[in-house]
Amino acid sequence: MSYLKNILIRIEKAAEILDLEPWLLDKLRGFKMCWSCNLEVKMNDGTLKQFRAVRIWHRSPHTDQPHKGGLRYHPEVNEEMMMGHAIEMSIKCWLNGLEWGGAKGGVAIDPSCYSDQVMKNVTEALVDEMDERNILGPFRDVPATDVGTTSKTMNQIRQRYAQRRRSREDARFAGVVTGKPVGYGFGGIPGRNEATGYGLVEVLKSVMAVKNMNRQKFNRVAIMGFGNVGSNAAKFLTQNGYQVMAVSDKNGGIYNPKGFNIDFLERLKTDSGIINIPNIEKSADKISNDELLKLEDIDILVPAALENVITQKNASLIKAKIILEGANGPTTPEADKMLQDNGILVIPDILANAGGVTVSFFEWARNVNIKDERVPKPEINEVLKAMSAILNETVIKTVEKSFYYRKTGQDCLPLRMAAYITAIEQVAPLFRSKHMA
Ligand code: NAD
Repeated sequence: MSYLKNILIRIEKAAEILDLEPWLLDKLRGFKMCWSCNLEVKMNDGTLKQFRAVRIWHRSPHTDQPHKGGLRYHPEVNEEMMMGHAIEMSIKCWLNGLEWGGAKGGVAIDPSCYSDQVMKNVTEALVDEMDERNILGPFRDVPATDVGTTSKTMNQIRQRYAQRRRSREDARFAGVVTGKPVGYGFGGIPGRNEATGYGLVEVLKSVMAVKNMNRQKFNRVAIMGFGNVGSNAAKFLTQNGYQVMAVSDKNGGIYNPKGFNIDFLERLKTDSGIINIPNIEKSADKISNDELLKLEDIDILVPAALENVITQKNASLIKAKIILEGANGPTTPEADKMLQDNGILVIPDILANAGGVTVSFFEWARNVNIKDERVPKPEINEVLKAMSAILNETVIKTVEKSFYYRKTGQDCLPLRMAAYITAIEQVAPLFRSKHMA
């Protein structure tokens, strides 16, 4: 099933539980903009090559606020997949009280196959195309890092956008993207790089505390994907006393029954998020990504790579007791049901990995001079503390909702559905006020 269909199933289920008006369900299923084009990009030898670029805006009632969402460079980027991600991005923002509409997009390209110069050309071509259509800007659409893009990409976007707009008034250029580098003149905020991984651990701790779970029973972790989210999750899980038993990237994984030392793992990771597996053969076993999902001796599984990896084909083979979703959309609806039947707690993406977008909000608000009491001083501890306060509040609201909607004689609502409901309840009055006007 397509990723978009997975998300629509969840939206429709939430609407049914809430007995939502049909017109409002239609809005939640719809899009404000579906843009795509063939980017023309200059190669190292001077020839031009085309790559498909996509940007989607979900329907949002926040007409005075920008759309917000990641920019992905990956061969599988396509319109339908980005539509699903754009809806999820709205839900994540609304759940956490961030007044943005969701967006998502990217370029269908494998960055590991091209030079840094070609990737810069891709980014600049994308900015040119989007700016020509006026669909990029601090109050229109604010991309951020995602799979295959980094703070370097965000800096290139900001610089290109500033070059194009220099002559116009009141363009607060730095706010055109988040996840920028930190330092004089770059406009990034300390803590954005760590935010998603750090937030995952905060949400895990918070869910376990609110649900009164015994921390001692959940110790051993396996992480699929060792890029920004996966590697930071490994670092902060280790700092919190968890034992990382296995990690993987797109080339496969490694497993050590005694657990890995985080410094060792960090040394193995290259700039492109690849684990340098040949270097570790003596101290760990090689495993496939498929084997990582089904490991016997783990308590917590952290999918932190791509969507649709936990499906009806492998859900019944998962032995972990908790799934902490670092990636967006790693679990299909069919798998969700099977995991629930097997008593596995899924801490869903929109709840678990919202640290990144929360700190993006702090970065953007500072860049465009928005005054908001939630925005902390640009100091890493302050940023992570302010982010954790927002995430913890969301966990409490979501867990309460999961109890509230429990049917007589049944378990509480899964956290994913409780999170969808919390988000939709939060935004519905604003949609209704516009519908009536
Ligand atoms: P990244 O590019 O930094 O890292 C991606 C990692 O996944 C790499 O290690 C890569 O090798 C690995 N990978 C790719 N294909 C794989 C496969 N088929 N099997 C196993 N591993 C594979 O990306 P990221 O920013 O860490 O994002 C990872 C996930 O987290 C994505 O789903 C993204 O949407 C989500 N996310 C990211 C952020 C953020 O702040 N970066 C925030 C919220 C959610």
